[in-house]
Amino acid sequence: MPQRDGIELLLEIRRAPLDNSVAIIMLSNSEEPALALECVRAGAQDFLLKSEVTGPRLERAILHSRARFVLEQKLHNSFQKAKVLAEQDSLTGLANRYSFEEALSASITQKPRDNAKLALTLLDLDNFKFINDTHGHDVGDELLKQVAKRVSNCLRGNEVFARLGGDEFAIILSNLHTIDNATRVTKRILSSLEVPFIISGIDIKMSASIGIAIYPDNSVEAIELLKFADIAMYRAKKLGRNQICYFEEEMQAQFLQRYQTEAYLIGALTRNEFVLHYQPIYQLSTNKLTGFEALIRWDYKNTLQYPLSFLEIAECSGIINDIGRWVIQQSLYQISAWNLENSEQLSIAINLSPIQIKDKSLLAFIKSMLTQYNVAPHLVEFELTETTLLESNNETIEFFTSLKQLGCMISLDDFGIGFSSLSHLHNFPIDTVKIDTALILKSHEANTKRLITGICRMLQSIDIAIVAEGIENESSLSLCQQLDIDRGQGYFYTKPVDALTIKSNFI
Ligand SMILES: [Mg+2]
Repeated sequence: MPQRDGIELLLEIRRAPLDNSVAIIMLSNSEEPALALECVRAGAQDFLLKSEVTGPRLERAILHSRARFVLEQKLHNSFQKAKVLAEQDSLTGLANRYSFEEALSASITQKPRDNAKLALTLLDLDNFKFINDTHGHDVGDELLKQVAKRVSNCLRGNEVFARLGGDEFAIILSNLHTIDNATRVTKRILSSLEVPFIISGIDIKMSASIGIAIYPDNSVEAIELLKFADIAMYRAKKLGRNQICYFEEEMQAQFLQRYQTEAYLIGALTRNEFVLHYQPIYQLSTNKLTGFEALIRWDYKNTLQYPLSFLEIAECSGIINDIGRWVIQQSLYQISAWNLENSEQLSIAINLSPIQIKDKSLLAFIKSMLTQYNVAPHLVEFELTETTLLESNNETIEFFTSLKQLGCMISLDDFGIGFSSLSHLHNFPIDTVKIDTALILKSHEANTKRLITGICRMLQSIDIAIVAEGIENESSLSLCQQLDIDRGQGYFYTKPVDALTIKSNFI
């Protein structure tokens, strides 16, 4: 064996799929007892010295080796079975308490990357005992299996999901950046349980209470995290079941706030609580009004809320699609009404969320609204952020292209902070770039001024129009004018105001 020695070859055979069917006898000239031992450890069944090999002896060795091999296989298989029994819950096929605790300790010792958090989530079915008592254990067991299946469908598959015993389940959600991720998953779980279960023809309604403890915020110890999640779970039961509770009060408050906002947000459209404010946009060379950016406000309990406080919640819950359509309709209605009274045709800029882009019928909706309000498409500018472009795929590119074909304008919002990727400018049909407020506000600083100058030169050289956001004073205006920036908006002109104010002051 010139290339490698016998042990290496042996290891290679043992790793190959043949492993399950081959008994191996090693022959060697070496009388080293250590070598014989090493061969057996590496997976050989016997070791013979070449000088001792005779026909009958070899025959006997083969016979013994085969028998030994079969025994070894049996041992291996029963070990595997015992391992599964030890680690798996036999009813649901999920991990059991033992392997769950092992996994929890392991994920904590590995230390999550990049300050990521880990949510230890305990889930206990509400009034499960009643099912067992009234319908018997067979129905109860089947219910547990179906619950496990529904919960699994709410997970991505890389989480540890275990049945700790009885009707108690646990999930380790790892690599979380905010606790909202845990909220989202657990809310999805609760709503997946809302559909009644049908077992042996019986309709069963079942809810669950969920308690969550967060690593490292609540504790860095596995045992303590389990205890805290348990406390949170009991609190959820006490609050009236079918609830999610965080261990820490502050997290619970944050969660409730979000939960409540979402609940109110769902009915906000029908209660007519949204209004649009409009920020005038000016041509900088002439200081002439060219149009407006429509900005949504929410009248929540008599206080005007800005998008920052509710848009993300609307996006997560999907309500954004309805809200977004309302914004489009309202903006087009408004600009059409103003343009009927105005000698100049004014444009309207409408912000689009990345979630809206995924709505396959949005384009048809925009088309129908343009027709309904008789608005020329080139007067409508859709604003997107780079996040939208980052998440884009063939379908979104198709959407942008169709939007362009319709004659609408596309602008890239908040440019100059974040990614500011040149390839986005190259790969998407972008007409306008809006330079972010944060940059214009600091335009008096030499560094920022140079940066804005560079950005403008670059954009102008590839024929992309520029809008400066956040023009608040004379000096930033004159810088933007010097740089030949096409249009601008900001408090220097006016802050966003309601439609009535626009009508009486600007139209
Ligand atoms: Mg915008």
